[in-house]
Amino acid sequence: MATIPWLADVLRAAGVQVVVEGDWLNRMRPGSFDPIGVLWHHTAATSSATNPHPALNICINGRSDLPGPLCQALVDYHGVFHVISAGRCNHAGTSGGSGPIPAGDGNTMLIGWEIDYNGVSQEMTAAQYNASIAATAAVLTRLGKDASYARGHRETSTTGKIDPSFIDLNVMRADVAAKMAGGTAWSSIVDNATAGRFTASANWGVSSYSGQRYGGDYRYADPVAASDAAWYKFNVPATANYRVDAWWPANSGYNASTPYIVATTTGNKTVYADQRANGGQWRILGTFTLPAGDANRVAVSRWSSASGLIIADAVRLTRV
Ligand SMILES: [Zn+2]
Repeated sequence: MATIPWLADVLRAAGVQVVVEGDWLNRMRPGSFDPIGVLWHHTAATSSATNPHPALNICINGRSDLPGPLCQALVDYHGVFHVISAGRCNHAGTSGGSGPIPAGDGNTMLIGWEIDYNGVSQEMTAAQYNASIAATAAVLTRLGKDASYARGHRETSTTGKIDPSFIDLNVMRADVAAKMAGGTAWSSIVDNATAGRFTASANWGVSSYSGQRYGGDYRYADPVAASDAAWYKFNVPATANYRVDAWWPANSGYNASTPYIVATTTGNKTVYADQRANGGQWRILGTFTLPAGDANRVAVSRWSSASGLIIADAVRLTRV
């Protein structure tokens, strides 16, 4: 049986924070292990800054109906990889086939990240997302596979698994591919529900009406000729060029000319988006030079001359 004793070192070399959990090199299920890809999961446990890895013990030790280890690594709330096993784990069950991953024994073919968030009222944190992208890119590079060999459990499952939820797996793969191509591309997402990173006045309502939303809900407000912007705060790692992407749910009743404000090194720049169309996906607003530091960088303004609700959902920065 093969093992992947290189896992912790490959993650560290990719800049991922690693904690090795006990005798991870020898903790594994009996049976075959010959990994060709990575499988993403969520744990269904509710994590927080003060309880960052509630599912860690169960991932190491298993549960009454499924012996551990339950994944090669758990990704905690802060994006730290807890490396649990260098061998076969009970995480994937049977694969029905997805992309280049054939049908068969998922636990033989796939290395599993259990991303510790509940997936019902909580999405993965930006730190979890960024660490998962970096780790997946590094492991696929080591395996000699491209980004299509990263899958979500809900894509391979034959038993109706829904994890990992609140994420577009095609975008996640695209981000892995960009990471593998560029090596060091930094990317971060702030959603309207991201703790401590989104600010809007009480004039902005909360809605989960559209199924095209990013995460559990989004904010909306009527257009008004006044300054009442919703702000997205990012910890920009260096003064450099960043592509700014926005995600909104689209609806014929939404605004045809929603102003997005980007706070650049040379002042605020405004870009207008038609939120009646192109919803439920990342849309490029443009590339801007942003200053280093943790501050409000992108806003959705209500100051539109068009009618229809202004929507504030999610914003992504990617270093280019
Ligand atoms: Zn799963």
